[in-house]
Order: sequence, then structure tokens, then C-alpha cells
Amino acid sequence: MSLSHAEWVDALRDGDLLGVRCPDCGTVYGTPFAVCNECGSRDVEMTELPTAGEVYTETTVEVSPVGFDAPYQVGIVQLDGARVTGRLTGEVGIGDRVVLDGVLEANDEVAPVFTAE
Ligand SMILES: [Zn+2]
Repeated sequence: MSLSHAEWVDALRDGDLLGVRCPDCGTVYGTPFAVCNECGSRDVEMTELPTAGEVYTETTVEVSPVGFDAPYQVGIVQLDGARVTGRLTGEVGIGDRVVLDGVLEANDEVAPVFTAE
């Protein structure tokens, strides 16, 4: 079964991270995809991702869009094979261990929040 954006958001609000895994090439995605970007397979399956991982890259946003208080830190977290974009708290750096710590909802955007483990 594939994964819809609504299912992804519902799971996130419950503290779970869902992704999709391609059974043909093994690629794992941290956000809903109907088609594998690597091999074009349409057989991608929903999979549960670990809620702890490592900061792959991060940046600090100094000038924020309306509805956000700058500065704040965003980044990409490596969770096993998948990479998930989210908000970072606790002044973490690249390579630091982080854990899912809630969800940020603003301007109709939903994003996971990760904090230092
Ligand atoms: Zn694939």
C-alpha cells in the first residue's frame, strides 16, 4: 500500500514517522511518493521510520516567512535509509543525534521537529 500526504500528517501528529520503501531497488523515502525516483517503480510500500537519527545537514533561517519567528534552525535528518526535512531545536550540528520531538504546524505546513537526543 502506498502512503498519502494525509496519512503522513496524521502519523506525524501521533508521533510516528512514515515513509515509503521501494521493494524493487530498496530506496527509502521520508515523505510520501507514489513512484520511486530511483527506478520508476510504482510498487512503493508504506514503511515506519525510526524516530531517532543523525543530522545530515542543517542551516539557520535568519529571515522568516510570515508566521514564523526567526532565527530558527532547519535541517535534514538521516533516519536509517531515509532523509527527512524538519525543524531542529537545541542548537544541534551536523552528525549530532536527534530524536523526533513533536510537530510544527504553521501556514498549512506540517513539519517534524527534532531535538538533541
Ligand atoms: Zn526503486
